[in-house]
Amino acid sequence: MKYVSTRGQAAPVDFVEACLTGLAPDGGLYVPDTWPQITPAAPSESYVQVATRILKAFAGDSLSEADIAGLCERAYASFSHHSVAPLMQSGPNAYVMELHHGPTLAFKDVAMQFIGQLYDLVLSRRGERMSVVCATSGDTGGAAAAAFAGASHVDLYILHPHERVSPVQRLFMTTTGASNVHNLAIDGDFDDCQAIVKSLFADTAFSAQVQLSGVNSINWARIAAQSVYYATTQAAIGPDRPIRFIVPSGNMGDAFAGYVAARCRLLAGFELVCAVNENKTLATLLADGEMKREQAVPTPSPAMDISVPSNFERLFFEVAGRDGDKVRRTYDQYRQSGMATLPEEVRGPLSCTGLSALMVDNRETLNEMQVFLDETGALICPHTAVGTSAVRSLPATEATTIVLATAHAAKFPETVKEATGEDAPLPTRSQSLIERGEVFKRVSNDLSAVKDYIRSNMVAEA
Ligand SMILES: *Cc1c(COP(=O)(O)O)cnc(C)c1O
Repeated sequence: MKYVSTRGQAAPVDFVEACLTGLAPDGGLYVPDTWPQITPAAPSESYVQVATRILKAFAGDSLSEADIAGLCERAYASFSHHSVAPLMQSGPNAYVMELHHGPTLAFKDVAMQFIGQLYDLVLSRRGERMSVVCATSGDTGGAAAAAFAGASHVDLYILHPHERVSPVQRLFMTTTGASNVHNLAIDGDFDDCQAIVKSLFADTAFSAQVQLSGVNSINWARIAAQSVYYATTQAAIGPDRPIRFIVPSGNMGDAFAGYVAARCRLLAGFELVCAVNENKTLATLLADGEMKREQAVPTPSPAMDISVPSNFERLFFEVAGRDGDKVRRTYDQYRQSGMATLPEEVRGPLSCTGLSALMVDNRETLNEMQVFLDETGALICPHTAVGTSAVRSLPATEATTIVLATAHAAKFPETVKEATGEDAPLPTRSQSLIERGEVFKRVSNDLSAVKDYIRSNMVAEA
């Protein structure tokens, strides 16, 4: 199994290389050269068994089945629920898929725990060490910290905007106590953090010197690992039952993983609605084929405050008949002018993918948190509420409705309180966070300050 770039100008690589590299050298995203056809999950299989089969199909010959089984066992042992992604019934023929049983209470743990194990195995075999950098507005940083804490061959550098992430989100990043996890609080906003990370990668000399790697939402391992819970959900609902998935979306990584599951024949059919907040670029893209650069606006669901959904590029590549030139030209135009229109000939295929998007505004989101509580007695996080709210405006269906619950309510206690008046305490297993000391370093919004920090840390270790 080889991985090709969506911009058509990078050499094909294997699974391990695609995952360690992140972005392809031509600026594109890696996708498998063909979609493997995988036997659907059986209700009798454990999550780890299904994950092992699916990830082995994606890994091809780059890792053995025993390797993958070990990675999955260790990754999912960190979850508090042995089903990893259990379903909670929320109404007749309607369920919520709980993706928040991992160590940092958000769905990003599902992929990040696997990535942490993968990097450590591969790098220890190669006798190499890498510097993983990530910019975070909240959940990604915590998930990466939990995944890489104590890893023997990785230094993790998390850049978060100083005083602009929620207190609970910050706790998950800054209290690991691991000497290989470095938290940099940047005097700026999330876009500044992201710009610094981009510049670090663009500096090829620096990037080679510190063996830079990224685990943001375009990393193929994240998509691959996230496709697993779509397969286990199909098995739980019934192998032939049609399902309508509702996915709270930002960068569209989670939603694209559902599309991948369908392409690999892991699902009985395919209907997936991306539920987006007031940052509705994805809805405009899917409906009108227009891509426009806009400043992201803050909403009650901050993990979805994304101006351009990066994983859309993978879907574009598919509906463009895997024509990398077409994708590259469109993104070049976008980069130059801040605007692009999808080529006419991809619009038809795009409307036949089974994917659509629906926008839910801030008021509806907060209102939904109270309505869902009244109906089920359960508190949901504001991202999940964008999903359950979207369901209410969709046409009725025979299909089973599954909303992906992307985070635990306790990660957003201020919003829960505002919307419902209820407290959302951390589960017992996370409470020790509060007692542990936070460690982070305040750094000015300056590329060279971040470079100096990473370099001096490498020297200190050598
Ligand atoms: C990251 C995140 C999302 C958005 O997921 P994408 O894969 O970027 O679409 C939704 N909800 C929560 C809680 C998240 O952390």
